[in-house]
Amino acid sequence: MKKFQVITLFPEMFTGVFEHSMMWKAQKDSKVELTTINLREFGMGKRRTVDDTPYGGGDGMLLMVEPLWKAVEYAKQQDPGAKVLIMTPRGMRWKQSIAQKYSESPHGYIFICGRYEGYDERIMALVDEEVSVGDYVLTGGELPAMTIIDSIVRLIPGVLGGETSAVIESFSDGETLEFPQYTRPVEWQGMQVPEVLLSGNHGEIAKWRAKQSRKAE
Ligand code: SAM
Repeated sequence: MKKFQVITLFPEMFTGVFEHSMMWKAQKDSKVELTTINLREFGMGKRRTVDDTPYGGGDGMLLMVEPLWKAVEYAKQQDPGAKVLIMTPRGMRWKQSIAQKYSESPHGYIFICGRYEGYDERIMALVDEEVSVGDYVLTGGELPAMTIIDSIVRLIPGVLGGETSAVIESFSDGETLEFPQYTRPVEWQGMQVPEVLLSGNHGEIAKWRAKQSRKAE
């Protein structure tokens, strides 16, 4: 069973995502194990401090290396072969082909969610990959970690209901976006479902869909 462990100051953010729909089912079916590790538990002193001001000056606070280091060590004890990913806007841009590769790999993953202005760079000594979800800045690494975990978990064989659902999706061949889809009713506010989709002619439907699929930029 593939393990996903998330190091975060806000574990409660994950309950909504981990306890519903496909993520919940994947755990119930023993396909994956999804857990959070509260960074605060590895904080320093009585107040369990996890952040401090940056050397050299500058606005904001950074996650200190020691609590992060100890949290990663703890996660590694649970899953020694796991790869460590840190969420950062400067990382490798996440995409479907990488999600596919990660879903097929034999090992689990440990996610480090940054907060504030980021983290002490020395944690990189324990990190295998820096990952970004796009060229914008979010408040923390929690939403990126959820996005990445979701994109991997749904590709693990047996997780999605129809085994083919992920095969015909956007980006699954690396370049095409899915064709437009319709369901009942046939007419809504004067807008009709394209005739060919009602024809029952599978060859024509396949041709129409291929034509309607757009190239990803
Ligand atoms: N000072 C950092 C910078 O300029 O790159 C931004 C820090 S951001 C406010 C806090 C944390 O959110 C980051 O350390 C990272 O973990 C996460 N984060 C923000 N945007 C992200 C993105 N596009 N991809 C992945 N993680 C992101």
